[in-house]
This record gives sequence, structure tokens and C-alpha cells, in this order.
Amino acid sequence: MSDDFIRKIIREDLRGRLDEVVTRFPPEPNGYLHIGHSKAICLNFGIAEEFGGRCVLRYDDTDPVGESVEFVEAIKEDVNWLGFEPDGVSHAADYFEAMYDFGVELIEHGKAFVCSLDFETMRKMRGTLTTRGTPSPDRNRSREENLELFAAMRRGEIEEGSLVLRAKIDMASPNLNMRDPVLYRIKRTPHPRRGEDWCIYPTYDFAQGYADALDGVTHSLCTLEFDDHRPLYDWLLANVSLAHRPRQIEFSRLSIEYFLLSKRFLQRLVNEGHADGWDDPRMPTIRGLRARGVTAEAIRDLCERVGVTRQEQRIELKMFNFCVRGALEKTLRRAMAVVDPLKVVITNYEGAGETLHADWHPQQPELGAREMPFGAEVYIERDDFSENPPPKYKRLVPGGTVRLRYAYIIRCDEVIKDEQGRVQELRCTYFPETKSGSDNSGMKARGVVHWVSAHDGEPIEVALLEELLAAPDASGRDFESSMNPNSRQIYNGYAERAVLAIPDTGFQFERLGYFKRAKPGAREFHRTVTLRDSFTAR
Ligand code: ATP
Ligand code: MG
Repeated sequence: MSDDFIRKIIREDLRGRLDEVVTRFPPEPNGYLHIGHSKAICLNFGIAEEFGGRCVLRYDDTDPVGESVEFVEAIKEDVNWLGFEPDGVSHAADYFEAMYDFGVELIEHGKAFVCSLDFETMRKMRGTLTTRGTPSPDRNRSREENLELFAAMRRGEIEEGSLVLRAKIDMASPNLNMRDPVLYRIKRTPHPRRGEDWCIYPTYDFAQGYADALDGVTHSLCTLEFDDHRPLYDWLLANVSLAHRPRQIEFSRLSIEYFLLSKRFLQRLVNEGHADGWDDPRMPTIRGLRARGVTAEAIRDLCERVGVTRQEQRIELKMFNFCVRGALEKTLRRAMAVVDPLKVVITNYEGAGETLHADWHPQQPELGAREMPFGAEVYIERDDFSENPPPKYKRLVPGGTVRLRYAYIIRCDEVIKDEQGRVQELRCTYFPETKSGSDNSGMKARGVVHWVSAHDGEPIEVALLEELLAAPDASGRDFESSMNPNSRQIYNGYAERAVLAIPDTGFQFERLGYFKRAKPGAREFHRTVTLRDSFTAR
């Protein structure tokens, strides 16, 4: 079990001031969850589980613009798929009445006022890190007038953009977030959940702490960019009457090489046609990863390994791949498929063919074995043959030998080319005494290659996937120029017959990687991950 700085704080709190820990995962329903969110999910749900507490799934639906019910349902499904069941589901929008009352309470305590400055003027008067801000001329409006104006805002009597509610804190604070921040603004946009009940909406800062308090949250875990919002979070909670006050703790975001982890940018990838949808197997969304063949176990394993700190770091793609392989290697059957076929004719093979046998998995005998037809014509991978081999080439060359996995050693006698000079077929001799499992010939081959019987192999379509981005660090702004043009390469290949007979699973195609079917029963496969990171040959 992990023991990070947050768990240490919680353990301490449980020894003293608290009986139970309550956390929450607070997504805004304005997009699908991505792998970054799974760090927050594993952390919040994991802590609740370990300490016998609760974790609430709270939709942070305080901004009607861009939010939708479609996302609300998808988020719940994705959390469940990752292996977590919320101890309660809440919506910040259901707290609008209570939040409004907190606004009134702040006004009554002289801690908030209604301001008529427009946003541009307000921004200018806020000052900078080196200059203090200028107080709003409305700052000393009377309590009665503030209460009346706030009520009028709520009743829809005020034009959008002409009044806001602001906290009255300190225009000279070194922390810009404390310079009389906006708490409520008018937006005449219907809310996906509340319809036209409201025309004023709380800001993120205002809503966050109060929603936490109303959900009974004890530890509000969020990402580091909210570090300098914490004084405001505490101030808002301290200035109203609340039985209990949650505590905000920040941690660093998950970021991974080549992955763009921001709903806004992922939305653009979809809108601008760089991806086929939120569930495109190249997308770093939970749905995309799932479509790609990544398991929930692999994602949880990655989060566990990354740990929880306040250190900003970008995880190497290698580490992600390592976790993905780790979850697939024990469970997926291993089979042979050829992505880019080159025909091999075994000139001395006589008879109609024979049936070989091989286990589906070397370490999982309970998965059983399959039959593998072998005959005079097989396909091998085009790049398992070379006329001009680089040094240490361990595959087939003219005059050289290689073992066909589970079968025999062959020797390449003749290379047949088409008019363009492209290799079309290899004519080979096989050595019957070298049959795998009963070979005592003492004959050595250069290497072992995979193959599929030309007579019995089944045609398949194979998509070799790479990340959507070509650059490891595409911080988002200019991703257009760093799109990977080769993120999906499609090949027409062959798989051994037995693969098609098991319609509902992915496979490890030997030497090529782990593959998932586009859907159950499909002949279309795409690669989830290669077998090694150094494996650049396709
Ligand atoms: P995005 O920029 O993708 O919209 P967000 O932080 O605005 O991300 P929210 O829906 O508001 O998305 O986030 C819900 C929770 O998930 C928040 O607590 C947020 O801190 C957390 N979260 C989002 N992205 C990451 C990430 N990359 N690593 C860790 N936690 C994250
Ligand atoms: Mg957001």
C-alpha cells in the first residue's frame, strides 16, 4: 500500500481531530475523463477504501456553458470501469440554494458586496504581483443595498455582465486571488440539470469549498494549480457558519509523454477530426484506452507506481507501456499473425499438409492448446527477410536458414521478384527432421520467425497504432504542428485460423505485440502496445 504525504496527513488527522475520512472526486461534466483523472480517482477512492471512509462522486456542474448530461453518465461509467463505486453521488448544482444563502450570509457579515465594474475594469484595478489593487467604488455599499441587489440579480432583474458579487478581502494582498475575487456572476444560460431556475452562477472558488462542506468532505484533494487558491478556500469557509470545515491538500497532476491531458484540447482533437471520437483507441481518454485494449488494472498500476507528491513530473511513455504489458501478458492468448505477408513456397514439402499443436500460453496451461495447420505454402513477415542484411541480422537471408516457430527449419534457395524488382515470393527447402519438439538433428538456424499457413490462414486487417502526438511534450497550445501523421497504419495480413474461432478476446501476436479486436468477432485488430519499447520495426 502506498504511503504518500497525503495519507500521512490523514492518518495524523484520524488520530486526533477526525473519526472518519470523506473524500470526493469532482469532475466538471464538460468532457470525458482522461487518464489524468484516474490519478485523482485512484487517490480519492483509494484513500476512502484504505481508511474505511467514504468517497463521493460530485459533479462540479456550476458552469452551464459546455456541460451536458451525456458527460454525466459517461463519467460514472468510467469511474465504475476503473473499478470504483462511489459512496454517494452529488451535484454541485443541487446546492445552488444553499450556496446562495452563503452569499447572503457573507453580505450580512460585511464580507461581500455587489460590484458594478465591468470585467475589463475589474481586471485592470486588480493590480499586479508588484502593485497593489485599487478598491472598487462599490466596496462600501451598504449591507441593505447589497442584499437587495444580490436578490435582484437572482430574480433576473439585472442585465448579464452589469453586476457581480465579490468578496471583500484585501486589495493589497500579495495573493491576487485574495483581491476581492468575484463570487457570483449573471449568466442567462439554461443549466443542463437546473433548467432556468438560476440566472446567477457561483465561481469555481466559491462553489468548491461550500460543495465540499455540504458533501461532508474532510479532505479536499486537488491539483497543484489550486495551491494559491487555498487561502481563499479557507477564508470562504471561515466566514460563514459551518459545523465542519474541509481541508484542501494539493498534489501534482499526472502528465505523460505524448499524451495531451486536458478535456478542452481533447475536445479539439475530436472537433477538428484528428481523432474519430472520444473513444478513438488513440485517445488518452478512459474510453479510448479501453477501446485500445488497455485494462483498468494497468491504469491503476500506473497510478500506484507514479505515487502522489507535490513534484511536477512527466511520466515516460515507457512506464505506461510497461504497465499495459504487465496486465496483458498473463491473460492474453498468444498466436501467430503476419501483418505484411511475404509468401514462402516450400518446394520439397509433399502431401496435403499436417496439423501442429501449440499451447495458447506458455505459463497458463488452463488456456489449453490449439491446432495449427502447416503445409507447402506459408506467409512470413516481409521484414523477416533481407537480401542485404544489416550486421547480426537474425532472420532469413538468401541461402540462410531460419526456424518457423513451432514447425521446421527452412532454407531460402531462390528469391522471386516482380517486374518492379520487389520480392514476391521465396522458394525454400524444409528439413523434416527439425520438427519442433522432436528435433535431434543438431541443425542450427539463424533465428526464429512467425508465420501463418497460406492455405488455412484467415485474412485480417491490422491497425498499428502510435500516439496521436509526435512530440513528447505538447503542452497543448500548438498541438496542430505536432500531430503524428503515422498514428494509424493499416495492413492486410493473416492470422492463424484458431484466432478467428475465439471471437471475443484480444491476443498477443507473437513478436508483434498485444492486439485488441475492433469489436467482438471482428477481423479488424489494432495494436494495444508493442512487446518492447526498443521494437521499432513496425
Ligand atoms: P481538464 O483540464 O482536463 O478539464 P480539470 O482539472 O479541469 O481537467 P475536472 O473535471 O475539473 O478537470 O477535474 C476533476 C478532478 O480531476 C479534479 O480534482 C482535478 O484536479 C483532477 N484532475 C484532472 N486532471 C488531472 C491530472 N492530469 N492529474 C491528476 N488529477 C487530475
Ligand atoms: Mg476544468
